[in-house]
Amino acid sequence: MNPKIKILPENIANKIAAGEVVERPASVVKELIENSIDAGAQAITVEVRGGGLALIRVSDNGTGMGREDAVLCFSRHATSKIVTLQDLFQIRTLGFRGEALASIASVAQLEMSTARSEESVGTRVLIEGGKILEVGDTARSTGTTVMVRNLFFNTPARKKFLKSEITEFRQILSVVQNLSLCYPPIAFRLIKEDSEVLNLIARERQLERIADILGKTSESRFLPVHYQGDGVTLAGFIGKPEFAQMDRKRQFFYVNHRMITSRSLSQAFLRAYDTLLPIHKFPMGILDFELAPNLIDVNVHPTKREVRFSNERMIQDILVNAVRRTIRNANIIPDLSYKELTGRGFPLAPVLSFSKADYLKSPEEPIQEIMPLELNPDNKEAPSPQPTSQPDFPSIPEFSSYQVQYFQLHSCFIMTPIKNGLMIIDQHVAHERILYERILDNFKESKFFSQQLLFPTTFESSLTEFEVIQNNLNQFEMLGYGLKTFSGRTVIIEAIPAEIKPGTEDKILREIIASLLEEEDPKLDIVQRFAKSFACRAAIKSGQTLNQQEMTHLVNALFQTKSPFTCPHGRPVVVRLSLDEIQRRFLR
Ligand code: ADP
Ligand code: MG
Repeated sequence: MNPKIKILPENIANKIAAGEVVERPASVVKELIENSIDAGAQAITVEVRGGGLALIRVSDNGTGMGREDAVLCFSRHATSKIVTLQDLFQIRTLGFRGEALASIASVAQLEMSTARSEESVGTRVLIEGGKILEVGDTARSTGTTVMVRNLFFNTPARKKFLKSEITEFRQILSVVQNLSLCYPPIAFRLIKEDSEVLNLIARERQLERIADILGKTSESRFLPVHYQGDGVTLAGFIGKPEFAQMDRKRQFFYVNHRMITSRSLSQAFLRAYDTLLPIHKFPMGILDFELAPNLIDVNVHPTKREVRFSNERMIQDILVNAVRRTIRNANIIPDLSYKELTGRGFPLAPVLSFSKADYLKSPEEPIQEIMPLELNPDNKEAPSPQPTSQPDFPSIPEFSSYQVQYFQLHSCFIMTPIKNGLMIIDQHVAHERILYERILDNFKESKFFSQQLLFPTTFESSLTEFEVIQNNLNQFEMLGYGLKTFSGRTVIIEAIPAEIKPGTEDKILREIIASLLEEEDPKLDIVQRFAKSFACRAAIKSGQTLNQQEMTHLVNALFQTKSPFTCPHGRPVVVRLSLDEIQRRFLR
């Protein structure tokens, strides 16, 4: 009987390996840049078309390859970086498996040209779907160019799983930015559809490169971190607490100059800031650990995105201690920590089930006009509250027996006695709910309220931010923003939504973009995402003191909304502490 097991031909094996190494265009870009770095390049240019699916071209001025190597490098397990098993535990290069080029070539049409300095003529190799089609001479300067066309042309199943070109490009951009942060002396260029998106000149100091990527103001937002001991060196920059972000996108971890993702490091990093950050805020950081290669296993993930530390606990502790010491030395701990602020409050009962009808006497009662919130008294053009002769809450029986009085607790909560107990409203989420519904209405009726700025401000956006703005100019207009984009990354803010306080427009715009990028829920349409992001950013914050009138308007407007009891993110807005509950607590 014939044996059933067969050794797969190399081209099939490569295609299988490609499934792991080459997840998407950005993985190709990562592998090719890493090869260029390993080859000692000082300048790397990345060109892409169609989100990297149509074309990826990475050129470097590294060592280049001779003819034999130029052909051999496409075989699986062909690497110049390790020779013996011992080497696997002493890896100093980014690559070592000899798999990337073979994998990429098996799922694309690839053309490579390369030349070494000592040779007068270079080599050009054409390879498609893993088959070498042509090897010949080419004239070129020292270095290597790899051009990858029609990625996944022969694996349509993989192609189906890719996201839009915009998303794939965003991933590529993020790979280039991520790697460039760790290699300031290397110049990087990124070109998309013939236009230059990134041009990073070689930098001596990492902070300069950080500023290139994360914005000019980085110099004032970051603190240098340095630690050395236990065979580990940690170097990099961490963001000051007040510049914490909505997400973890500005956290960059490296081990021996290899970009990695690590949940445990990212958790430790957050822990290091302790109570200096409000919940759901994340610190910024660019952190490179250097340790003896035998203390890490870099061979645990197909794309080498994760590493295993032989002593993970120690690495976490080093991170936490180094960050804490940096913050302590910088003397930036605010007087009142967040914990103190929230910790003093009494434990509140969970939201009791009650409906909006609890508050409304009868459906026939005329619904009061929505009161615009006047939280911005010196802004003449913002809508101001209509004078009203009606008493507050005329239609809410629970309040009728009281002279309605609001109390503010810790500038966060509004409290008021109601017939059967105490009602506590979270001012921020209440305003969020109000704005959210108003924005949805605005979008529905295509009307928008904006205020023209006397002095338009310039908004220096990052690349990603610029892209979001450009792709969504209409939506921003519906919010009330008047934005003009210029080449480069400059955006002029000419008008802002009525609800926004002038002077905060760029901060809020930046936050809206961040949360738009963060909000991945595909079920939400763009309008809802905008409404949600805008409401969350523009709503009054916890910590803002409100006067009686403002509290009254806020509560009135809240109970005119369709669902006053939860914010757009699903958090409770109102908590009621019933008399029963209060009595129980006093053991009555
Ligand atoms: P690995 O990087 O794991 O060794 P690759 O498949 O990425 O495997 O590359 C195979 C080999 O081809 C490398 O070991 C290196 O010798 C050579 N090579 C690849 N890219 C370049 C480049 N840009 N410049 C010089 N040599 C390169
Ligand atoms: Mg490689």
